[in-house]
Amino acid sequence: MNQMITNHLPTAELQALDAAHHFHPFTDRNALAKKGARVITSADGVWLKDSEGHKIIDGMAGLWCVNIGYGRKELARVAARQMEELPYYNTFFQTTHVPAIALAAKIAELAPAHMNQVFFASSGSEANDTNIRLVRRYWQVKGKPEKRTIIARWNGYHGSTMGGGSLGGMKPIHAHGGMIEGIHHIGQPDWWSEGGDMTPEEFGLLRARELETAIEELGVENVAAFIGEPIQGAGGVIVPPSTYWPEIQRICKKYGILLIADEVITGFGRTGNWFGSTTFDIKPDIITIAKGLSSGYQPVGGSILSDDVAEVVAEGGEFFHGYTYSGHPVACAVALENLHLMQEEHVVEHVANVAHPYLKARWDALRDHPMVGETKLVGLMGSLALTPNKEKRAKFAAEAGTVGYKVRERCFANDLIMRHVGDRIIISPPLVITTAEIDILVERAKKSLDEAYKIVKDEGL
Ligand code: PLP
Repeated sequence: MNQMITNHLPTAELQALDAAHHFHPFTDRNALAKKGARVITSADGVWLKDSEGHKIIDGMAGLWCVNIGYGRKELARVAARQMEELPYYNTFFQTTHVPAIALAAKIAELAPAHMNQVFFASSGSEANDTNIRLVRRYWQVKGKPEKRTIIARWNGYHGSTMGGGSLGGMKPIHAHGGMIEGIHHIGQPDWWSEGGDMTPEEFGLLRARELETAIEELGVENVAAFIGEPIQGAGGVIVPPSTYWPEIQRICKKYGILLIADEVITGFGRTGNWFGSTTFDIKPDIITIAKGLSSGYQPVGGSILSDDVAEVVAEGGEFFHGYTYSGHPVACAVALENLHLMQEEHVVEHVANVAHPYLKARWDALRDHPMVGETKLVGLMGSLALTPNKEKRAKFAAEAGTVGYKVRERCFANDLIMRHVGDRIIISPPLVITTAEIDILVERAKKSLDEAYKIVKDEGL
């Protein structure tokens, strides 16, 4: 039966089968069943094709991951070759293989100088679960087993496993229950929504100092680490004020707690440097990686460890942790080829060149739109804050997210993928996007905003 389900089936039939048997992540199943999922059939560069023949510009690089763009045959060839030579072997119990060795060495070459070891996982969520184990183990080995609490931020996102979901500060995820103990959340540096009358710089300091207050309240003897995304991605591309990260860094140093930079989105070129930690001048003890590491062609992630973390954990003897697919040879071979291609084709330099000033100028010009307040862009990740009153940074009368959803729907109808997070609209296109494609993306975004604005007026939202 399964062999007969191909791209050639009519869309409605594919949608019906999908609704009958496929329980989607982060989706309201009943709403989807009524509407039918959009069926994506192929892709090339920054362009997706669906089963109805639409050519859609992917302003989100899938889920912020297809950094090198779709359709790279080199990656398919490497995967096929590796599957023939060694499709699987594990990295437990003192064994290894060339793809894992070579990828770990390449990541160490690209990472900040004090970080030279990689622990592999298959996703960002898994890598963050590893990080919880790592930092707690680190303090055990140092003779301070009570240092277990990890401080994270509300509206941060670190994945949706039990560990990742608990580190994240997404209230709807927490509301589904079963979060793990020992995670404490502080406020996020979202000046637009929460900064009141303060300047962004004052607000950045205020939110960073919540870390200091939390450490004092919890007792430094109980705190293991702080985790944050250099730029919150799933939270709405929240770019922190310039004062935020230096203050966080100062506090982590003062109290001697470990700093985990979750670079699942910002890693591998997204911000115009190999790592967002470089863009924001952060010196982390652990960096979480996934997504852009393989440009999404294979599920692979991991934790890059500072020499200190690696040495301390190693002093404790065997680290009782690992996944069957830690360092999977096919995933590692594909990720390595992806990084080679990015280097050969100067993709990270391309990001810096097309983002500033080309996309930035066009993105910021969207502030002329009556419904757009703040615009933010760092490298190739950006956001627009929608508002009925720019001066007051006001919220719409309709429930939060209603207007954002309307814009997203118009984008979808205009063959542009942009996501909404509440009433923020976000982009994160493949890093290989050209200036001509940026023009198309911005044109379609503007058209969608105009159409949504009309709906907002007509419906009094
Ligand atoms: N951390 C961050 C910052 C992310 O954005 C994500 C996913 O979007 C994750 C972790 C989880 O990664 P995964 O979905 O690969 O488990």
